[in-house]
Amino acid sequence: MVVIGLTGGIGSGKSTVASILAGMGATVIDADKVGHEVYCPGGPAWQDVVTAFGKGILNDTNEIDRQKLAKIVFGNPEALAKLNAILHPRMYRMVEERIKKARQRGDKVVVLEAALLIEAGWRLLVDEVWVMVAPVEKVVRRLKDKKGVAEEDARARIRVQLAAEELQKHADVVIKNNGSLEELKEKVGHQWQVLSERKGNDC
Ligand code: ADP
Repeated sequence: MVVIGLTGGIGSGKSTVASILAGMGATVIDADKVGHEVYCPGGPAWQDVVTAFGKGILNDTNEIDRQKLAKIVFGNPEALAKLNAILHPRMYRMVEERIKKARQRGDKVVVLEAALLIEAGWRLLVDEVWVMVAPVEKVVRRLKDKKGVAEEDARARIRVQLAAEELQKHADVVIKNNGSLEELKEKVGHQWQVLSERKGNDC
């Protein structure tokens, strides 16, 4: 089995590529979804997050309101570090468990889609790293047009993430998402082909 870590900045096309790869037969683990699960009441991080940030972050049904939490940690590196220290190890264990299950099932390719693959220290969980890169202006426009993200918010979120050049230093494969969706599909198809030749698997 091959485990691919798929990473890249916001709006670079990770989810799009993950679903293309799923269509080709890969098992996708979405770190965002794992993040949601650790936050659930009764989930492995709920209690510690509430202890650290107070009951003010809860909504009426005792769920952690991620927007309230985001407001606290955005632009506050200390609070963000505190939150990550709670979340990341728990998410790591959940992801590790899912990879183990995929191996037991006999899955051939697992894709771990994670914006923070490198920053969270999850490199160890994957065999190779695929990095998505896209021109900032295109990302801003896509986020604005397709996701309704205000331009300034998009730019602020891009500013706080690892620079694309930095991320690419960790890459085994770089996918440049600078064209149409059709072109992106072709590039992913090509990498899938290369992967099956490289690993000698029949994916
Ligand atoms: P990420 O998961 O990295 O945040 P997404 O895959 O969600 O990025 O892409 C952000 C938005 O841009 C989505 O609405 C997606 O459909 C769109 N998008 C991604 N790549 C392209 C492309 N090559 N052409 C047009 N739209 C794209």
